[in-house]
Amino acid sequence: MFRINAPAELTSLEGTWLGHALSFRFGQSCNCWYAIAGVDLNTKAGKYSLVLQGKGKPGVKASFTSAVAVSEKPYPSTSIKVAPEYVAPPAETEARIEEEQALKKRVFSVIVPESLWSGRFQPPAEAEVSGVFGSARVFNGVKKSQHTGLDFRVTTGTPIAASNGGTVILARNLYFEGNCVMIDHGQGLITLYMHLSEIKIKEGDRVQARQILGLSGGTGRATAPHLHFAVRWQGVYLDPGTLLSLNLP
Ligand SMILES: [Zn+2]
Repeated sequence: MFRINAPAELTSLEGTWLGHALSFRFGQSCNCWYAIAGVDLNTKAGKYSLVLQGKGKPGVKASFTSAVAVSEKPYPSTSIKVAPEYVAPPAETEARIEEEQALKKRVFSVIVPESLWSGRFQPPAEAEVSGVFGSARVFNGVKKSQHTGLDFRVTTGTPIAASNGGTVILARNLYFEGNCVMIDHGQGLITLYMHLSEIKIKEGDRVQARQILGLSGGTGRATAPHLHFAVRWQGVYLDPGTLLSLNLP
């Protein structure tokens, strides 16, 4: 979260950060402007410019640039055993996987300008974390990817709740994700809930923070029942643990 103290005559504040557009909100409680932003896992450590443009009554304009340091963080590596068809999907699933990739690309490409969340982001389940963000994933002995979400240890049938307010942009069964729900919180911020046994909302629904989306399960590429919770922001996956820890005004 970027928190900015700006001259009182400003009525709007926009910014750019690592090629992303930031739209700041004014928080009465902190008397500051704030915006959620993130850093892609592949970003090299270094200093990056945060560029701000403020506007106010006619004639009032303010701009500011600040170098923000991004430092390196080591991530662990974990070995996982899953059914072989999720490491090397059989030929007959190829068309389905391709179709779902195109669907996700479409869903992720829509950015609505208004933001629908308010206050803190809530954990989607009252459960222990069983897998952290960023760990290298070795599936059946082969390094496949980095873990781009946060896993919660839940048994099948545990209610899974929306982390914050938004619009349901996807609620269906996908090959890898299993029964999956995606909520658009606006301005490119999306939360994802995977491997559900049951979905209780539908695409297009407006949901509120803590509203039940479905029940946990182990559908799709999952070793055992758990909730994979992910946060996507303007094309990159961010650490959900960080988002949940933010004390938003
Ligand atoms: Zn996961």
